[in-house]
Amino acid sequence: MSTAIELPPRPTPADENKSVIDMSKMNEGQRAALQVTEAARESHDDLSFVAHLFMGRWRPEKLHPLTDGDAAEKVRADKFLADLAAFLRAKVDGDLIDRTGEIPDDVMAGLAKLGCYGIKVPQQYGGLGFSQTTYCRACQLIASHCANTFAHLSIHQSVGVPQPLMLFGTEEQKQNFLPRVAGGEVSAFALTEAGVGSDPARMTTKATPTEDGSAFLLNGEKLWCSNGTRAGLLIVAAQTPPKLVDGKPRTQITAFVVEAKSPGVEVVCRSQFMGHRAIYNGVLRFTNVRVPRAHIVGGEGRGLKVALTTLNAGRLSIPAASIGVAKRSLQIAREWGKVRIQWGVPIGQHAAVAEKIRRIAAHAFAMEAMLLATSRIVDRDKKADIRLEAAMCKLWGTEKAWMCLDDIMQIRGGRGYETEQSLTARGEKPYPVERLMRDNRVTTIFEGSSEIMRLFIMREALDPHLRIAGIALNTERPWRERLGSALRAAGFYAWWYPRQWLTFGGAAPADMHPHLAGYLEKVARRSRRLARTLFHQMVRFGVQLEKRQVLLGRLADIGADLFAIAAACVYAQKLLKDGEPEAKIFMLVDDFCAQALIRIEQNFRGVGHNADQHGYDLAQQVIAGEHQWIERGIV
Ligand SMILES: Cc1cc2nc3c(=O)[nH]c(=O)nc-3n(C[C@H](O)[C@H](O)[C@H](O)COP(=O)(O)OP(=O)(O)OC[C@H]3O[C@@H](n4cnc5c(N)ncnc54)[C@H](O)[C@@H]3O)c2cc1C
Repeated sequence: MSTAIELPPRPTPADENKSVIDMSKMNEGQRAALQVTEAARESHDDLSFVAHLFMGRWRPEKLHPLTDGDAAEKVRADKFLADLAAFLRAKVDGDLIDRTGEIPDDVMAGLAKLGCYGIKVPQQYGGLGFSQTTYCRACQLIASHCANTFAHLSIHQSVGVPQPLMLFGTEEQKQNFLPRVAGGEVSAFALTEAGVGSDPARMTTKATPTEDGSAFLLNGEKLWCSNGTRAGLLIVAAQTPPKLVDGKPRTQITAFVVEAKSPGVEVVCRSQFMGHRAIYNGVLRFTNVRVPRAHIVGGEGRGLKVALTTLNAGRLSIPAASIGVAKRSLQIAREWGKVRIQWGVPIGQHAAVAEKIRRIAAHAFAMEAMLLATSRIVDRDKKADIRLEAAMCKLWGTEKAWMCLDDIMQIRGGRGYETEQSLTARGEKPYPVERLMRDNRVTTIFEGSSEIMRLFIMREALDPHLRIAGIALNTERPWRERLGSALRAAGFYAWWYPRQWLTFGGAAPADMHPHLAGYLEKVARRSRRLARTLFHQMVRFGVQLEKRQVLLGRLADIGADLFAIAAACVYAQKLLKDGEPEAKIFMLVDDFCAQALIRIEQNFRGVGHNADQHGYDLAQQVIAGEHQWIERGIV
């Protein structure tokens, strides 16, 4: 296979407001939403492993070999994690926290003493200075025990003050705020509003510059701010005065660090949810809150970029928690599958139950592989492009964790549905399946819902094509520019497209065990099929492709499963190198790959054979009330 994809240069800051996407047929709301998110996109020249997969290119060296990381850190990290595990067992009662909706002060103090509020914060700013991998291991550990404690710590450091300041903060901001948050002062992140969920362009919270320009006055209301009722510091996203682009005002979103005790900051109410009952989530109101200009994070108008970039690495804490949940499900399945006897044998020996146990084991293994592979990329190069990998870890990990929870609920039967308190009262072992399920349902919704993750993945997957051919298809660009772009695109595709039909190429790294190499070659072949399928859909639907969300979703899912197989093989190779027996590791790899390859095949088939349009039409009829008669007979 050829080694280079010639891409046009990424947009310069001056050009980044001119999207390559044709927005001429969009309504104002759609156009505004897209303009804001397009302007906030990160852009990298060096494509990641997954970005290459979508282009049919095979770059295993981006994942392999999976190393141990820094040896000195590992010694320190192992001790920290052992202390943390001991603290969780001794002091953190997940059931009590769930029932009372409160994390006791002594638990927070104990976590602060361990350094849990600044796991990744550099030591020079008072944190533990650990890597992304160690942070993820800590998240997994905590979430396997108590989702509330996990959410509290992860929101604080993944999206609260530490992560955005580490990425975008000025030296003065780092020195002022990082020691406070690393020491245990709680922080929160306020983006969502009643009208702003997945679409930040509609944000109404405003930050108006003061007359002398030294500060801003913040006014508005933020919804569902986790940690918000206990936070000392907040990251708040607000609209600042619009910028003129091509003579038209363009929404600007800016991120600020706000002292929660500032006059005018008010907790309007505390929100209550199905799970995460101690998440200290609330509605926050800001009335003429004075925020110094020096508290802007990342520059005026770059707030969404700060939020989206923060979420790339920040978002890895949620799949880390998903691994904790999947492993806990596996532990319960192993114990209960052996001791619960029905129809004369342990239930784990009934094929229908064994199928679920197998599914949990294989996916817990693959989830860990994906996250390890991605965390290691971050640890090697903090500026590396992991947008696709991180989004896939989040999308795939949270959906597969939910599948595992559904399986363990079924395996536990009626006891799965029973609360821990009730199980304890009857003298039974209180496995927390009911609590785990309530707490974890939200993970496919917050920090980027699954639907938004699929769109995000496909936007990034399409980026090389948009950079090559987007201008040619964009009716808003001058014809000369379009013609030039069309000629360049023709040259590129004449070279690229035939290569997507090659049945050879895509060798595994030389040091890979032949058994694993076989799977990697399958991934390489299917990545070319994925690339040409995506290309065919682009040709078929043109600019309308972005509306085919179900179709794009299938392609995103194929990409995620291919990444999962590749990561599983790379992880397996590391385990073999560490001395794990082949037979044991291959049992898991074989089972996972069999399941993932079946899903991939089904998704490929669904691209050509589906009832997507029919289904969409039915949904529109339902919304229009044409099938309201089906609702007859309910209260
Ligand atoms: C427990 C909890 C804690 C939270 N903590 C915080 C926090 O700390 N800070 C904060 O700022 N926010 C927080 N949120 C808000 C959270 O991030 C949002 O709920 C999330 O962004 C989704 O927004 P929404 O709920 O308004 O859904 P909506 O945006 O209204 O979406 C509703 C549905 O439509 C789908 N959808 C929306 N747009 C599209 C599209 N273009 N294409 C296809 N499907 C689409 C969504 O995926 C979803 O399924 C929290 C929410 C909860 C429940």
